[in-house]
Amino acid sequence: MSAQQPYSFFHSVEKSFDKAAKFTKWDLGILEQIKACNSVYQMRFPVKRDDGSIEVIEAYRVQHSHHKAPCKGGIRFSDEVNQDEVMALASLMTYKCAIVNVPFGGGKGGIKINPRKYSEYELEKITRRYTSELVKKNFIGPGIDVPAPDYGTGSREMAWIVDTYASLKPGDIDAVGCVTGKPVSQGGVRGRTEATGLGVFFGIREVCNMPDVMAKQGLTVGIEGKTVVVQGMGNVGFYCAKFFREHGAKVIGIAEYEGAIFNANGLHEEEVVKHRKATGSILNFPGATNLVKNTDALELECDILIPAALENVINAENAPRVKAKIIGEAANGPCTPEADDVFAQKGILCVPDMYLNAGGVTVSYFEWLKNLSHVRYGRMEKRFTENLNSRILGQIEELSGKKVNEVERTFIMHGPDEVDLVHSGLEETMIGATREIMDIWMSNPEIPDMRTAAYVSAINKVANSYSELGIFP
Ligand code: GLU
Repeated sequence: MSAQQPYSFFHSVEKSFDKAAKFTKWDLGILEQIKACNSVYQMRFPVKRDDGSIEVIEAYRVQHSHHKAPCKGGIRFSDEVNQDEVMALASLMTYKCAIVNVPFGGGKGGIKINPRKYSEYELEKITRRYTSELVKKNFIGPGIDVPAPDYGTGSREMAWIVDTYASLKPGDIDAVGCVTGKPVSQGGVRGRTEATGLGVFFGIREVCNMPDVMAKQGLTVGIEGKTVVVQGMGNVGFYCAKFFREHGAKVIGIAEYEGAIFNANGLHEEEVVKHRKATGSILNFPGATNLVKNTDALELECDILIPAALENVINAENAPRVKAKIIGEAANGPCTPEADDVFAQKGILCVPDMYLNAGGVTVSYFEWLKNLSHVRYGRMEKRFTENLNSRILGQIEELSGKKVNEVERTFIMHGPDEVDLVHSGLEETMIGATREIMDIWMSNPEIPDMRTAAYVSAINKVANSYSELGIFP
């Protein structure tokens, strides 16, 4: 890509894919099929604004791969939405789902609007109209394509989507499974809101628990005491900061689009968000120093840098100034392939997006399963487990003649609630994926970085499932 050409996110994904494809055994044709976006639906529809004017809205839904059904991926509301971006994000969803063994094809949607410039009523109209456009073209459904939140959307938008879909599909018993990330009262699952941030935390914690990897980065084992910088205080960034802080790390820098703040003694994300709500900006947070530009936060000296906003924030231009020892890609595509080359030279470990931020879709999978089974997690086993634990504890106390203290008793007796099962399912998924990718990386000294290892894992899994379908020999 020459300097004159505009940045293409999809091209970046293809570039990383090709870099990894060399380390797989698959024919060129198979690799081409895996890489291609199967269906791209670009739509335009009118919406009447509150002032009576008519605006034509540009929107997309891309289904990158149908090797598994349904397709899965969020819907983004942003001024920056374009076909190239949605295609790239849909591709990443395919690879992400494959890596964490979530049986979906990749999809993504986008509406080209800045949600801050629309009233709630206008946003509801746009979301409902977008949903009915998807229904008309058979681009949404629990067995077809299942959207979820992404940048600029949340559970409120998902509630509008499910309501619109269900009203257009009367009698569809599984209609509630047409979208995930819903409010719990509308068929959502407990634990979905914090899932992506928690998944990022579990993934990075696993990496930090690997003595060889930490020795290479010149860091001690574990999360405790590590300095962290988070770029973006949306849902993902907020929960990343929260989980790292709660586990003993120090969040020394936080960036938002209006600016960035730094405090070597650590920042409390909840206080920062409160301050932002009250003043309209994260700047001038008590005790913290303002940084001149929000992008300055990416160049702070720290152990772990978490870009948790948009793509292409670390690229050939600023990558040489990044001083973090580990980068945890909580956003999709925050670092370009050119930045990867710089990290390789500088010995920075970049833990890649397509697996690290898979917590969201993993818990979406749990939500979808809950919707299809029509039963809350834990409903069947909670009481049984508590009764069993009580009997076991009673026997132990009787035989040993000793009493277990109250804190331990409560913990041991507790039967799993929905959120316990969701969190532990997520933890298991993220630990498993981290180890699998590290094993691929370590087993071949030619593989240059963790992203390439993650792509190798994804390509092999997607290609294998094509051959299971009998499509490829
Ligand atoms: N938008 C999230 C992502 O990029 C979640 C997708 C989903 O849950 O389907 O992974």
